[in-house]
Amino acid sequence: MNPPLPRSRVPRPKAAADRRKRLDFIFRQLDNLYPKATCALQHRNPWELLVATILSAQCTDRRVNEVTPGLFRKYPTIEDFAHSAQAELAADIRSTGFFNNKAKALIGAAKKINSDYRGKVPKTMEELLTVPGAARKTANVVLGTAYGIASGIVVDTHVQRIAARLDLTRNGDPAKIEQDLMKQVPKDRWILFSHQVIHFGRNICVARQPRCPECPIDPVCYAKDKNA
Ligand code: SF4
Repeated sequence: MNPPLPRSRVPRPKAAADRRKRLDFIFRQLDNLYPKATCALQHRNPWELLVATILSAQCTDRRVNEVTPGLFRKYPTIEDFAHSAQAELAADIRSTGFFNNKAKALIGAAKKINSDYRGKVPKTMEELLTVPGAARKTANVVLGTAYGIASGIVVDTHVQRIAARLDLTRNGDPAKIEQDLMKQVPKDRWILFSHQVIHFGRNICVARQPRCPECPIDPVCYAKDKNA
């Protein structure tokens, strides 16, 4: 394993063609690392994915995957969620944190989908944003993973951090970061790219002490907090 290049020795692309080449290099490395990256939240249909994604706020996917099998046994349909008692549902999802808010969002989402969308999780960003608990990030996960619709790029904490480290954004606001990424990443990559970067952020470009010595993106990385 070679030591990572100090950031001062990594050239910064100035011309558009150089930025494009650098981006293509990043895509190739992500493809090599995670050719089939997908959502780690277990689900059998769009509703279960929506529930799991709401539960995953401030919680690990692993913990959510421990909770959801029992949850879907107890509440197998959207109607079961819509008619559940909030306190009981909150107790059932307690270990995912923020359980009162999440229970309220799940019941609200189930009621909204039943009343306005005939019991089917909607397939457009505009409609999904009317569902309680579903902001853009959640909507992008559901549309991309459950329906294969490239509506945008999922900007979670990993994507936020890595977009900044790789100089793909200078913004701190997730909505603006998403816009920056959507301009640079081809649309047919949006779904895969989101999952690849999340995996990359969990395994290599972690928040503290990123694993730069084992990172294949190192030759083009001039992040301030590069571990070199
Ligand atoms: S792990 Fe992150 S900070 Fe380190 S070289 Fe790779 S992309 Fe850059």
